[in-house]
Amino acid sequence: LLIVCWILLFVLCSVIYALRIYYRESLRHCVKRAIRQSAIDVHFQPIVPINGRGKYAMEALIRWHSPYHGNVSPPFIVEMSEKLGLIDELTWMVIRKVGFFYRAYPKQLSGISISVNVDRHSLLKQEFAGTLAHILTEYPELKGRLALEVTETSVLNAIDLPVMVSRFEHIKALGVGLSVDDFGTGYAGLDFLRRFPYDTLKLDQVFIGSLQDDQFTRQILTSMTKLAKELNMELVAEGVEREDQLEAVRALGVDRVQGYYFCRPLPEQDVIVWLEQNMIQ
Ligand code: C2E
Ligand code: MG
Ligand code: MG
Ligand code: MG
Repeated sequence: LLIVCWILLFVLCSVIYALRIYYRESLRHCVKRAIRQSAIDVHFQPIVPINGRGKYAMEALIRWHSPYHGNVSPPFIVEMSEKLGLIDELTWMVIRKVGFFYRAYPKQLSGISISVNVDRHSLLKQEFAGTLAHILTEYPELKGRLALEVTETSVLNAIDLPVMVSRFEHIKALGVGLSVDDFGTGYAGLDFLRRFPYDTLKLDQVFIGSLQDDQFTRQILTSMTKLAKELNMELVAEGVEREDQLEAVRALGVDRVQGYYFCRPLPEQDVIVWLEQNMIQ
């Protein structure tokens, strides 16, 4: 009986293992098809000037509902795309959709810049700026309004910093903005900020959560804010969910705020309605 039990257990484990592989494979296949068919949605989350007046911006965030796998998280889609060699296609797809969005709502979106997250694997490619320039001629409405978000850690971990700096300068020369995303998680120093031509620093949301009750966090954020100001960068706080957090980042001197407190990421038409109802110009 014991042997039979062992065999059964073994068969069961093998079946589960095979199913998991099958699930992952089918997910890969679906991600691939979704990117190829531009079937991944892009939602937009407003970035609000803290004093109500001033420049509004938005961040483009991918959303994908698979008929077989349900909602698939953005980081997972990004990871899959990297493994499938489709990460560039994903980036270009999102940027084109942003261009299309500007084209569809020229009046409502005039003066609003939109940022797109870019994976470091894409940035490191030599042809990155060239392709970007090509898309800007395809969608001239992106000029002066598109910004790219690059995480702090992805730049810190880059092997060839001078190459990265020249890539960034090339991108800036095209009139495209650059933001440091998830700032504070990678412990970048002054040198990092001085060498790269960034316009915006986005404080990671992990800090916002502990800003009020942790004096150490407050001290770090205060010196980061000073640094950003000295280097003429805009400071954005990510992940502000409550009024008290808004007040805390206001005290810090943040310029703009992004978070559920104001608005969740929304589909195109809904975010247009949000802007019409909430934007003070
Ligand atoms: P991220 O760039 O740091 O984006 C901010 C994330 O915080 C988004 O998660 C957003 O929905 C979420 N968020 C905004 N406000 C709040 C808040 O008040 N509270 C909380 N708890 N969360 C808030 P999302 O959309 O799930 O995206 C996760 C990450 O996936 C992004 O982090 C980004 O790194 C990556 N990602 C999303 N879209 C793209 C894309 O098109 N390309 C690439 N390469 N990465 C993307
Ligand atoms: Mg981002
Ligand atoms: Mg972030
Ligand atoms: Mg993040």
